[in-house]
Amino acid sequence: MTTVRVVVGGAVLDRGRLLAARRSAPPALAGRWELPGGKVEDGESPEQALVRELREELGVEVEPLEPIAGEWGLRPGFVLRVWVARLVSGEPRPLQDHDELRWLEPDEELSVDWLDQDRPAVAAAMRLL
Ligand code: C5P
Repeated sequence: MTTVRVVVGGAVLDRGRLLAARRSAPPALAGRWELPGGKVEDGESPEQALVRELREELGVEVEPLEPIAGEWGLRPGFVLRVWVARLVSGEPRPLQDHDELRWLEPDEELSVDWLDQDRPAVAAAMRLL
């Protein structure tokens, strides 16, 4: 049996804006923008992983609301899934993995260089703003 590991990304919404995070590592991805998140660990649900990752990486509490339909291939054995999430508390800061954060208004979707695999989910999230 082949196990596919899920990487969960958060489309974090607050006051009509979407949070974008610029990766600082690894070198191949540094400078590209993503929906922040990370790998789901054994025994975790994607929603639990998202809450943990955003606490670790950004110092915020979020509430996952609903998955965005679809799943996107990463390197072999990994897929990206994305949840819409609401910022519950805290002001996001780049504590790990990122060197800049931006809140994007609906007309700013294309103002950052998103990772290719994140683009469909970003477009779907922007339609919710
Ligand atoms: O954040 P982390 O390094 O745990 O993510 C694992 C992998 O998932 C990254 O190397 C990246 O390729 C991918 N990823 C992505 N889009 C995201 C989050 C992570 O492609 N929104």
